[in-house]
Amino acid sequence: MRIETKCVQEGYKPKNGEARVLPIYQSTTFKYDSSEYMGKLFDLEASGYFYTRLANPTVGFVEEKVAKLEGGAGAMMTSSGQAALFMAVMTICKAGDHILCSSTVYGGTINLFAVTLKRFGVEATFVDADLSEEELEGYFRENTKAIFGETLANPALSVLDIEKFARLAHKYNVPLIVDNTFATPCLCRPIDFGADIVVHSTSKYMDGHAVSLGGMIVDSGNFDWGASGKFPEFTEPDDSYHGIVYSEQFGTTAYITKARVQLMRDLGCSPSPQNAFLLNLGLETLHLRMQRHSENALSVASFLEKNEKVSWVNYPKLKTNKYKALADKYLPLGSSGVVSFGVKGGREAAERVLDGLKLAAIVTHVADARTSALHPASSTHRQLTDEQLKECGIGADLIRLSVGIENVDDIIEDIAQALDKA
Ligand SMILES: *Cc1c(COP(=O)(O)O)cnc(C)c1O
Repeated sequence: MRIETKCVQEGYKPKNGEARVLPIYQSTTFKYDSSEYMGKLFDLEASGYFYTRLANPTVGFVEEKVAKLEGGAGAMMTSSGQAALFMAVMTICKAGDHILCSSTVYGGTINLFAVTLKRFGVEATFVDADLSEEELEGYFRENTKAIFGETLANPALSVLDIEKFARLAHKYNVPLIVDNTFATPCLCRPIDFGADIVVHSTSKYMDGHAVSLGGMIVDSGNFDWGASGKFPEFTEPDDSYHGIVYSEQFGTTAYITKARVQLMRDLGCSPSPQNAFLLNLGLETLHLRMQRHSENALSVASFLEKNEKVSWVNYPKLKTNKYKALADKYLPLGSSGVVSFGVKGGREAAERVLDGLKLAAIVTHVADARTSALHPASSTHRQLTDEQLKECGIGADLIRLSVGIENVDDIIEDIAQALDKA
């Protein structure tokens, strides 16, 4: 199946006489005929559902669909993107370990890695992902256990050279984790370029309608935990399951199984079956939406580039963009609906433009069907001075657009009339 067909058909495949559409298994528990079989489930000797904190059929079918879309061996859905990020790293790391992370990643990820993981004893070094391989190698430590980056960074819109990061990770026998939230598998499949683990906030384009929070971790099945020699938790017995050895018992799904049976068991950041159902509905049209978001955003970015009220535009697919070559390699079909630009006249002019928008709504969320806009300097980052804003790469003049799937002429007319008020 090609990716468009997978979006529609993968995951739930009804048998004769069963519901055509993915059913919502709104049940925390599952019934069995013998206590002996139940015992085998708890020892991980048999497969089956027993408690929705660990697994649920509705959730399971959506996990299967996303695993197929990304070209992975298995996947686990979580209650949010943040939960997915936490579990993706902590399935690999323990206190005393270290990770390397691209410095342009999502602000929530920076907080998680720099503040919360630090309290768990895991340290992160944030690096300029555009450095050469040799320069990046300088940041590796004896205890470095993973490298992390975003295919298309939120909101910096830098494009990660996934192959470079994968080469570096594999030279040091550690996995590369890629957050593919903005690209989605319809625009880029990081596993094809060497990523070992892919993470998503499904709350964005995958859901696509801003109705449900969710996260996903996809295991490529390609990383050899045993051969690496750096991950004893994968190669030595787990006492909490009568001495199971993950790399031996589960092979290509060792990582995602460990994530589920240890961290999901203990932390319980489980998605609701209802939200999994909504995510599946979103995924059925993901290929159509990503194409339209990307086409509309490129048209909007080209319009902005020519507008005299605009001082700069950031969109990877623009000819003038620093990341155009990387975007053409990793995102050949488009670079999503997110565009940022600066308005001449700074903070006040940007505020006037935002207030002048009629179709585009002011919301903090990005990546749903409706066009929306945000002025970080007067909202998410309003406590910062102009100087501090400049330091974190967000000028007081910056407006972030999340271009929707409406008719692009309506979107451009709306922005044009708002810019007239700048
Ligand atoms: C939104 C986002 C997250 C966090 O996901 P939630 O579902 O909001 O918890 C993580 N990474 C990226 C790139 C995001 O855009």
